[in-house]
Amino acid sequence: MKLIDPSNRRLNYLRISITDRCNLRCQYCSPGNQIPILSHDEILSYEEILRLVRISVQLGISKIRITGGEPLVRKGVHGFIRELHQVDGICDVSLTTNGVLLKDNVDALIAAGLHRINISLDTLVPEKFKEITGVDAFDRVWEGIQKAHQAGLSPIKINTVVLRRFNDNELEDIARLSFTYPFHFRFIEYMPIGTSDRETADNLYTPEIKQMLTDRIGELIPIEHQIIDGPAERFRFAGAAGEVGFISAMSHHFCQTCNRLRLTASGQLRSCLLSDHQEDLKTPLRAGASDAVLSAIFLKAASMKGAQHGLTAGTLERVSGKMSSIGG
Ligand code: SAM
Repeated sequence: MKLIDPSNRRLNYLRISITDRCNLRCQYCSPGNQIPILSHDEILSYEEILRLVRISVQLGISKIRITGGEPLVRKGVHGFIRELHQVDGICDVSLTTNGVLLKDNVDALIAAGLHRINISLDTLVPEKFKEITGVDAFDRVWEGIQKAHQAGLSPIKINTVVLRRFNDNELEDIARLSFTYPFHFRFIEYMPIGTSDRETADNLYTPEIKQMLTDRIGELIPIEHQIIDGPAERFRFAGAAGEVGFISAMSHHFCQTCNRLRLTASGQLRSCLLSDHQEDLKTPLRAGASDAVLSAIFLKAASMKGAQHGLTAGTLERVSGKMSSIGG
């Protein structure tokens, strides 16, 4: 049996949140101390996750992204990545990080087999970074990005969540970095998830961003979409070393190509980031369930995957799960 959902999408991509803890407190993601931190026992151990990964591979999963929370705050992440690479059938392992601890981890990540990385960065202004994240760490993140680049991680994707009156005055500067660096700068529409303090009026959608960048910088030349790009639309400015891309979960549903499942830090399997439905894997896993029983839970999660998420541009609805524990 393979993970094929009712819309006939083949699910081969598992995003794994290895911790709900984060060393930043981004205003729109984990403001203040609102995030209840799961106790150590509530979080799946690496051994437990690896067992679930081996089961999922039998069902067709071949790509893994490690996320969180902030995955680099969890001890043992390098060893975990090494073990993931050794699972027969896993052909791609990547990591999403806020970059704060990246500089000191790059060498170990590469030694563990990591080839590519996504780094979240919403501003180029150090004071604003501190204001958004609660931590004065812009320089550390930038040094981490440079070190990852020098060490040969490629592609380096820089993910920027875009909001009006937040960082819309910086999008041009960020996009212009693609002339200097061979990175993929990707602008991500904000999604109404969890405890964020953001109003719908702050949302800024891809068509407006594209128009702004075209007016100020020049034509966005499309790059042919490859399967590894996921939902990102890719472009390049003439003469640029890198790319700009757009991930438009709200203004342009890309659900028809969604091939993902998500395993939360607490062992819940979610078939859609923007739906609260989840299947509990942890309880049966810890009660000694067989591989067959756990496989059946994966298949049930796939069978519950909606044709498309219910949120649209301008929506007032929210998804109650927290991005920091579901894993972005
Ligand atoms: N700590 C890691 C990081 O910063 O990349 C991984 C987890 S973080 C939750 C993953 C990504 O989700 C970040 O790029 C973050 O900006 C993004 N994110 C958080 N809340 C979001 C929201 N409501 N809409 C869109 N992206 C969001």
